[in-house]
Formats: sequence, structure tokens, C-alpha cells
Amino acid sequence: AFVPLDKIVSLCKRRGFVYPNSEIYGGISGVYDFGPLGVELRNNIRRYWWWSMVQTQDNVVGIEGAILTHPRVWEASGHVENFVDRLVECKTCKKRFRVDHLPPENLEQRKCPNDGGELMEPRTFNLLMETYLGVVEDDRVKTYLRGEACQNIYLDFMNVVKSSRMKIPFGICQIGKAFRNEVTPGNFLFRQREFEQWDLQFFVHPSEMQQWFDYWKQRRFEWYRGLINHKDRLRLREHGPDELAHYARQAFDIEYQTILGWQEWEGIHWRQDWDLSRHSQYSGEDLSYVDEVTKERYIPWIVETSGGVDRTFLYLLLDAYEEQPDPQGKSGETRTVLHLHPMLAPVKVAVFPLKRNNEELVKLARGIYERLRRLMVAQYDDTGSIGRLYRRQDEIGTPYCVTVDFQSLEDKTVTVRDRDTMTQVRVAIEELPAYLLERVTW
Ligand code: ATP
Repeated sequence: AFVPLDKIVSLCKRRGFVYPNSEIYGGISGVYDFGPLGVELRNNIRRYWWWSMVQTQDNVVGIEGAILTHPRVWEASGHVENFVDRLVECKTCKKRFRVDHLPPENLEQRKCPNDGGELMEPRTFNLLMETYLGVVEDDRVKTYLRGEACQNIYLDFMNVVKSSRMKIPFGICQIGKAFRNEVTPGNFLFRQREFEQWDLQFFVHPSEMQQWFDYWKQRRFEWYRGLINHKDRLRLREHGPDELAHYARQAFDIEYQTILGWQEWEGIHWRQDWDLSRHSQYSGEDLSYVDEVTKERYIPWIVETSGGVDRTFLYLLLDAYEEQPDPQGKSGETRTVLHLHPMLAPVKVAVFPLKRNNEELVKLARGIYERLRRLMVAQYDDTGSIGRLYRRQDEIGTPYCVTVDFQSLEDKTVTVRDRDTMTQVRVAIEELPAYLLERVTW
């Protein structure tokens, strides 16, 4: 059975992962803030992607572009003209639907899937978020908050070639915010108006396009696969001919199955020479590349892998969440646990003294905590019974809990309890940092 979305929404609010933005003003649709645990999880997700895609790759570098760009960028990219959603509204229940999300029979019969009412004529909306540069009325220039983060990579392509000694084939990565006036934001972090994307744009010679496309498709699939517990809920879906952009020979979505159905997690796109050609044409700058060895001059072709940080955040929580009968609690009690990958978990270790009113235990436990927190995110807690403290940590996905007991005072060992198996082992205090680091770092 799939985890209902409201379980995640409420856990996120209760434990400080995600809050609705501007909540005291009634909230704002499709915008969220990340709380103390959310920001840790989010940073870990981002850092792990960066480490996998940039820091451990000889042929990939990173950039961080601005959210604001020259307005012409969005003409060249086709967004001003084509970045639109078609929307229909029901005459009776007033619910709005994206035309491309409606079941075909509902669209054909103009029938609302919610209450069976009549649907109005579809209308078209551009998703770009407008903003203005400059303060003086007459000089103000209309531009857009970027509708997709990857445009900066095309804009900086030549700068990277000239400044970094990168030779084709090579890639440029970026993580950054994007903004879309989604007409139907919803499903928590799944469809927001402000969200974060991660992109790789990999530049190749046309003759090597297919090979690199296959390579990145497989690698990205394996990457996501390594982060989840329900391996059968991940798949690669090839786009049909009607879904392909005119320049694309192929496209795949990495999809994950949740209560929302099979939905995109990341797209692997065959962008060919579309982006660099368009920017050459619109800017008047020649963005072609010269191979130093063969002297061939050409516009590089591009393999794109484009995914969402927020969607990763949401999918990992949906994948990790479990409610199970509590084997150590009273009958009928449940334990809620997040089986997050230890390297992504917001808190890596929690340290408890067995008795909070025993000075020696508290002193030793605090000492261990202070040593560990220099190496990883750690928490100290002595505000309940050990059983309760375990539950508290299970619910936020902390992979290890360390308990300091009377034996610790004698033999300098502690118990380390594993979140998933709930088994406990004794580890020497001396060896604790190495024991934990080995298990929580990538
Ligand atoms: P959709 O068809 O669902 O609108 P898309 O195909 O337009 O999505 P892309 O433009 O390819 O999506 O964006 C790349 C990635 O960015 C997506 O795979 C997704 O993870 C993420 N993403 C896109 N739109 C949103 C959004 N509104 N909120 C959160 N994440 C998003």
C-alpha cells in the first residue's frame, strides 16, 4: 500500500521538515519553507548529487547561475512563445484541470472528472513569472524569473570552454531555483511555483550522441535506484513519438510510483544542437566549438538530465515512511520510522544517557555527543525514557542511537542501536567516530 500524502505533510510540519509558506497570512499556493530538519535533508540530497555528478567526475564541472537573465534568453529558448499550459475549468465545481492531465474521454465529452459538470473552453496560460528590473517607470525592463535553471548553462558554455580547459565530451552541472506560474500547483512539494532543479548538460560530438545518451540514462537510473527501498517502484519510461520535441530522437523519464501514480522524477533529454544554435542565432555570438586535434568546427550536441530537488525530497520521504507495530512498545502501539538512506538522513546519531539524573552518565554522554557533533549532525536528548527517545529519532530517520549506561562507566563501551533492525551492539567509545562515519558518509 502506498503512503498517503497527508501522512508526509503532517510529519513534515510536526517535526520541522516543511512548513507552508506565509502560513500566518493563510498561506500561498505552491510555495513552501523548509524547517530545521528539512534544510539538513535537502542539503544532504543536494551535496550527494553534486559529489556524484561533479566532484567525482573528471569530465564534469559545476556553475551557479543567477535567477535573473536577459529577457531575450526566454525568446531564444522558446519559452515566451511555447511555455504554456492549457487549462479548462468546470462550470459547476469551478475546479481547474490541465488539458494534458485530463483523461481523454473527459476531454472529449467536456465532462469534469470531479463532479461530472460541463467543462468550459480551454484557455492558454504562459508559465513564465514576470518581474521588472530598474526603478524608474520609463526605464523599467520586463524580464522573467528563470522558468528552468538549465538556460544559464547554455549561456555560460563558451565561458567554461575558455576558462576551464574542458574538452568535448564534457558536462556542466548546476543546482538552482526555477519559477513557474503553474496553473494547478498542488500535491505538496510535487508541483510548486518555486522549486529547485538539478541539471547536467553534457556536450558531445554528434557522432557520439547516442552512446552518451545511453550512458547517462543508465547512470541516472542507477543513482536513484541506490537511494530507495522500494526498487520495484522505479522505472524508465520512453516518450512516445507525440511527446518528443521536434529535435529529439529519444527521451526517457525516470518515474517513481507513489499514491499519485507513476510520475516523473527526472527527464533524460536528447537536445541535439537546439539550445546552442538558438542562442547563437538570437545573440549573434558564435557558440560553435573547435576541436583542437581535428580542427573541426561544430555546434555541440547535448544530452540533458534534469530532475527536481523537491521532488527527490518528497519521493524519498514517501519511499522511506513506514508505520509498523512496535515490537518493544505496549500492544497496539505503532512505531513510525523513516528508512532514509543513512548518508541522507538529517540527523546521523543521537546520544542518550540511560538516566538523566545520574551525573556520571550525563557527563560521559555529553562528552561523546560533543565529540561526534564535530564530525556529523548529532543530537543529545535526555528528556524521556530510552524507548521514547528511540521513537522520536525513528520518526525523523536517525540511523543510529547511542546509549550510555552503567556498563559504559566501567568498560568504556556504549550500545549502538540500528534504526531499521532495532538491534543493538556494543562499541568501544574510542571506535565510535570511525564506526559511525563509515556508515553515514558517501
Ligand atoms: P511536468 O510535465 O510534470 O510539468 P516538466 O516535464 O515540465 O514537468 P521539466 O521541465 O523537465 O519538467 O523539469 C525537470 C524536473 O524539474 C522534473 O523532472 C521535476 O522533478 C522538476 N519539476 C518540474 N516542475 C516542477 C514543479 N512545478 N514543482 C516541483 N518540481 C518540478
